[in-house]
Amino acid sequence: MYEDCAVCGLHYEVEVGFFWGAMYISYAFSVAIVLTVGVLLYYLANDPDMWVYLVTVAATVVVLTPLSFRYARILMLHFFSGVRYNPNAIKG
Ligand SMILES: [Zn+2]
Repeated sequence: MYEDCAVCGLHYEVEVGFFWGAMYISYAFSVAIVLTVGVLLYYLANDPDMWVYLVTVAATVVVLTPLSFRYARILMLHFFSGVRYNPNAIKG
């Protein structure tokens, strides 16, 4: 992730350690992925062996980590930074 916006120069980490909070959002994403994949396996794969659950869930979480990481930070910025998008900020 860039430290500053390439267009307007906004420093994304609005205070030291700001993105530690994104860890909790990412955790929520992981829980949602685990529950979703677990339920899908239960119903679509007819309740397979436990190792199938573990491998599938772990692989899915690992594969989706780049998305989870970025969207957790985006949501953190959106809801808790106080920064608001202003399309007119750099015109002129
Ligand atoms: Zn910007």
